[in-house]
Amino acid sequence: MRFNIKINKLANHYLFVSELSQWNELICHPQRKKEWIKKTGRLSTKEKVALENFSKILKEAKNNIGWIFICETEKNTWLKLKKQTGVEQTEELRNIFKLFENKFNILWRKESHNFDTISKYIKKNKNKINKNLEVLYQLSGVKINKNSRITIFLEMNGSENEAQGWSYEDKIILECSNWQKNAQLSYLVNCILLHELFHFIIKKNKKLLTLINKKAKKIKKYLPADLQNWDEKIIFEDLLLSSFVPEGFLSEKFCNINSRAVAEKELSKKKNDNFTKLRNMSAVEMYNIAKEYVDKKKRIDKNYIEKITDQIKKTG
Ligand SMILES: [Zn+2]
Repeated sequence: MRFNIKINKLANHYLFVSELSQWNELICHPQRKKEWIKKTGRLSTKEKVALENFSKILKEAKNNIGWIFICETEKNTWLKLKKQTGVEQTEELRNIFKLFENKFNILWRKESHNFDTISKYIKKNKNKINKNLEVLYQLSGVKINKNSRITIFLEMNGSENEAQGWSYEDKIILECSNWQKNAQLSYLVNCILLHELFHFIIKKNKKLLTLINKKAKKIKKYLPADLQNWDEKIIFEDLLLSSFVPEGFLSEKFCNINSRAVAEKELSKKKNDNFTKLRNMSAVEMYNIAKEYVDKKKRIDKNYIEKITDQIKKTG
């Protein structure tokens, strides 16, 4: 697999405003808002009003328009936004971005050079990543495709306590600018990135995907109340992948982490949200069977999917 690494300033600008607005409680991090206000100054009344308008536009948009800011060139971004949200809203968004430009630049000046380290680390480790990917291809029952290309967008994160990955088709976002230490880089590249690549690979096995989607419908009623608005297919797929990486057994294999101990510790933390808890639960409960599937070079099958389903029913 080949990796195309991109650093998009406008996408980071979007992330900055998005986190300040907290428009979506599932994807925004309250902690980042606090940290970024601390670094860039308190919000004025005008800024607060602008953030409310931003939230309104984002919530009313049919699709998550965040991806437009991430994937498109600057010129195309505004054109596409016009099509999706209308001329007025696009102008409004442009003005909001302008209002926060100076504050965003304070962070950007400090953090943008950090991407060099991360980008170099990914390039240096591309053979290792591909070696680890063989395990994921095997588990997914998908033939290795050396020519597939993935674009990785690098973005800012908050404190050193967190980094986040997202994926959409053949695009991956790593919010990670403050992860500069070796242990962090290793976890980012060998575990978080691998999880996102796993999403990409597993989707190539249409049969397996149909099975996952069918089972996902059955777990909906067992999910905690705050996850009822989520797409259960996304949750199920994530719990399945998390039982391998980054919370599960494979982070032991890929990154020398005592994954079971880490997941158990995360489970005991009260501050963790329900989704994080479920992912760690899946890692702990599925540890032995995940290890067996990897060691014996098995494919994820009906049996594995059934076990995950049972786990969710038990804990939900
Ligand atoms: Zn995921």
